[in-house]
Amino acid sequence: MGSLRVREYFKKKYLEMVERGETWELLRLMGPTGPRAIVEGKEMIVLASNNYLNLANDPRIRKAAMEAIEKYGWGAGSDWSIAGYTDLQEELHKKIAEFKKTEAGLAFQTGYAVNAGTIPKIVGRGDIILSEELNHGSIIDGVRLSRADKIVYKHCDVGDLEDKLRKAHGKYKNILIVTDGVFSMDGDIAPVDKIQKLADEFGAMTYVDDAHGEGVLGEGRGIGVHFGLEKKIDFQMGTFSKALGSFGGMLAGDKEVIDYVRNTARTWLLSAAYPPSVTAANIKALEIVMSEPERVRRLWDNRNYFKKELDSMGFNTGKSQTPIIPVIVGDTKKVKELARILFNEGIFVLPIVYPMVPRGTERIRNQVNADHTREDLDKALDAYERAGKKLGII
Ligand SMILES: *Cc1c(COP(=O)(O)O)cnc(C)c1O
Repeated sequence: MGSLRVREYFKKKYLEMVERGETWELLRLMGPTGPRAIVEGKEMIVLASNNYLNLANDPRIRKAAMEAIEKYGWGAGSDWSIAGYTDLQEELHKKIAEFKKTEAGLAFQTGYAVNAGTIPKIVGRGDIILSEELNHGSIIDGVRLSRADKIVYKHCDVGDLEDKLRKAHGKYKNILIVTDGVFSMDGDIAPVDKIQKLADEFGAMTYVDDAHGEGVLGEGRGIGVHFGLEKKIDFQMGTFSKALGSFGGMLAGDKEVIDYVRNTARTWLLSAAYPPSVTAANIKALEIVMSEPERVRRLWDNRNYFKKELDSMGFNTGKSQTPIIPVIVGDTKKVKELARILFNEGIFVLPIVYPMVPRGTERIRNQVNADHTREDLDKALDAYERAGKKLGII
């Protein structure tokens, strides 16, 4: 047992976080996740999950994973760089490139590991990173590990980016522009077309995090294809853990880029290979997204309906352009009360408060699923309307 002093120290810190309302209460799913799930023993409509295309419990993916266990066993036994690489893994790398329409692809342990491991190896001392204001925490960690200088540019503000590029130009060996493609709290889309144009003009490299764009934009292939820039963006990072319903990160780009990253990124080199079942599941998930564009269309139909109805009730859905649809309340107590009422009515949503979003923009983040039925969405909308009126939000 540790010392009483250490115990008291962390108890105090933890209780301070509880006091500020900054702790997460863990809610238990008691079965698979999908458009509906059993949460704490009760069937609920799920609007809080990244499982946009309802692939997390797809029977074809389950089967692929089980067959891989039969053929390759459970564990990989090593890192990919040493003795954990398989023919199946090589197939996954080719599949990533096919999916992203790039020359080469590389799977990583997680999306977090892509950002934390790649960014520090592509820029360093003497270089500069222009980082978008609302970038994901894993990008922020990658930027910190890089020891490059950093300038933050304003959210989706191409003019601000240009000013900052102009100032940095000529003073550094390399310039890297890093941005999320789809912003996870607001559901808006980065102007990657304009960003890439500026990058070309100033000789900067581009790195786009496509975690919430895959399965959603570009007929499911993500933000590169959405903008027709899949051959131009230097680093396309992604994850299997969101719309692809699985687990693991990915990087797509030119062959030289991938060869370099595979031989330098510490998160890739010094961490274990997937269990083969994960590799097989990821291959199958990519195949399904590429062969079933109707799945992506169903997602957008649901998204358009749900957003239109929320808007017409008078809720503030902010700048949403994707299946991430926030309901911005702007008050911590009220948003928690709204989430509680919805939860009690069988709608699984979570309040998102400071420090996850700026004060005054506290919200519920809704994420629509391709396989929500109209009845599911109407039930959620009905609960929203009643709770919104009760709390004076609409
Ligand atoms: C989820 C997410 C990640 C991390 O991906 P994991 O595979 O879950 O580690 C990185 N960037 C963004 C923008 C994300 O939303």
